Amino acid sequence: MKAEINTLFERIKKARHCVALTGAGVSTLSGIRDFRGKNGLYNDTDAEKIFDIDYFEQDPSFYYKAARSFIYDLNEKEPSVVHLVLAALEQRGLLKSLITQNIDLLHQKGGSRRVIEVHGSPRIHYCLRCAAVRMGFDEAAAIVRSGALPRCPKCSRVLKPAITFFGESLPMDALRDASDEAQNADLMLVLGTSLTVNPAASIPNYTLRSGGEVVIVNNMPTPLDSRAVQHFDDLGEVFEGLWDLLVNG
Ligand SMILES: [Zn+2]
Repeated sequence: MKAEINTLFERIKKARHCVALTGAGVSTLSGIRDFRGKNGLYNDTDAEKIFDIDYFEQDPSFYYKAARSFIYDLNEKEPSVVHLVLAALEQRGLLKSLITQNIDLLHQKGGSRRVIEVHGSPRIHYCLRCAAVRMGFDEAAAIVRSGALPRCPKCSRVLKPAITFFGESLPMDALRDASDEAQNADLMLVLGTSLTVNPAASIPNYTLRSGGEVVIVNNMPTPLDSRAVQHFDDLGEVFEGLWDLLVNG
């Protein structure tokens, strides 16, 4: 295993344009439950309703109550070794950008700067009625943690996070950035995602089609396993290894 992690590190150092794509498995290491995996959030009763736009419009308090612990109590969640290594790689110029399906802001908390959020983000909350109204994460989180709901100062409607809900279209700018980065990448690290849901499922294909290589680290099979130059199961083990190499190497 050690030799394979060494090979991966050499591959990252040699790459001209390395990009990472991260999914829920990366956050599981920080204690945030994977949406679809074992013990996943979606196994709970009503969990699909949390991110359903129709349901949100009927009863936004359901989302805020459910999301409070895993989005708004972010102070209780610490970035994992995966978040920290990715930030360190970016700092050393070895990682050009990071595409994430996650909405927990842990990459930013870990120190990553160039984060492309393809499922939107709770960095911004907005009013579904008043176009200009925006509230940042910190302000909204303080309100949610106090047990209240963030409301529009103009019309008092409950604000919606800029997370992409089921029934909404994905953020176009982020999708375009993600496909540009994937196309430019000569190395893409696919981390903690099973590549079953779009847009994540299609992003590594841009890299493969333009002649780049894909490395997969995921504890479940993905449709691209056979096309990966390297494949690992255990994110924790691989990134502890990379951390050692970054610190000592
Ligand atoms: Zn409003």
